[in-house]
Amino acid sequence: MSARDVIANLRALAARTSDAHGAQRVAWGSVWRDARRWLDDLLAEEGLRAESDAAGNNWITVPGARPETVIIGGHLDSVPNGGWLDGPLGVLAGLEALHRFKGTTPPVTLAVVDFADEEGARFSRSLLGSSGASGSLVPDSVRGLVDRQGVRLVDALAENGVDLDRMPEARGSLDRRHPRAYLELHIEQGPVLEATGRSTGVVIGAYGVERHVLRFVGQAAHSGSTPIAMRRDAFLAAAETALACREIARRYSTPDAGMVCTVGTVSVEPGIVTAIPGVCEIALDQRALESETLRTALADAHEAASRAAMANGVTVQWRHLWRIDPFRFDPRLVDLCAAAVQEVTGHAPRLPSGPLHDAVEMGRIMPAVMMFASSTNGLSHCKEEDTPEADLEATLDAFLRLVDKTVAAVAANQI
Ligand SMILES: [Zn+2]
Repeated sequence: MSARDVIANLRALAARTSDAHGAQRVAWGSVWRDARRWLDDLLAEEGLRAESDAAGNNWITVPGARPETVIIGGHLDSVPNGGWLDGPLGVLAGLEALHRFKGTTPPVTLAVVDFADEEGARFSRSLLGSSGASGSLVPDSVRGLVDRQGVRLVDALAENGVDLDRMPEARGSLDRRHPRAYLELHIEQGPVLEATGRSTGVVIGAYGVERHVLRFVGQAAHSGSTPIAMRRDAFLAAAETALACREIARRYSTPDAGMVCTVGTVSVEPGIVTAIPGVCEIALDQRALESETLRTALADAHEAASRAAMANGVTVQWRHLWRIDPFRFDPRLVDLCAAAVQEVTGHAPRLPSGPLHDAVEMGRIMPAVMMFASSTNGLSHCKEEDTPEADLEATLDAFLRLVDKTVAAVAANQI
């Protein structure tokens, strides 16, 4: 096998599990199970086989001279109408790493894991399998989940031989592997590497998120009869807040640790063109790589919303939706990753990840790092998802060097 074989295998998987709209490997469904059968056949050719844990994750192990294990992760599941690289790139790059030790005993143990339900596309809970493996999954927090067809998560899991209440037991079996380092190769899913003309990036961490709904309440009144100065327009207060939040994100963005914010929904009442909006709700999503930045940006957003409310004669109330802390990858592994990328491409740009990944769950319990390959037009979770082949080859080369460096560092007890 080689980087070219990895790419050929990715294309074969895509051909087998996609339709005209893209990849259909939604976790716990029949196409996803078929993707895993396809992988089983590929493993058999290599003299390997997958073993499932209690959370439905599949593990492929090559025992080394020592039990300490370097883990390489990815996921075969996709969103509906998804792409060919998001997930499988990590699994198949890992398989290539195992292949290179065929017929030999590596100095430490190597394992590839195909996490179950990274995407959360069907039940709206991302990182399900990896949170079982990290032990952070609380079964009661997902027990009530139902898909659009009314199928319960617990039943979909049972159909795949997974018992929700036993999923956290996957942590115990992971601990027995003596995990020492976790590596994941993924596509960027954003436009930054492509815009800077780079094939490969070193991922320094994942953004933390603060998500809130802001409800502005003023007074609905006739669009024609109410002079501008006498209005209490809830939409204008929301709009001024959205613009102020963009300024806040600009203010706290630095070259290596950007900050972003999005107002992704807006609704007004009464919602007719002849009435001034008396009520307006917006959903605000703020993300940053530093906890302190996220905290300050949130405080600034509160102040901006209050100011906009006051200026428009309306009130504002905040409702918390969801939050997660920023996550920093292991500095030693980040440096190894940078060295590997530098050797192959001559440049090692460091960037944060906007999306969440299984690597964040694994990073809770062992040193972890990710490497990104560029994404054409920054697109992902769609059938247009792509990476130029030359970029994929360079990135795979760099990733295999990262595996070698990590194996050496673990063998030397440096990690
Ligand atoms: Zn992914």
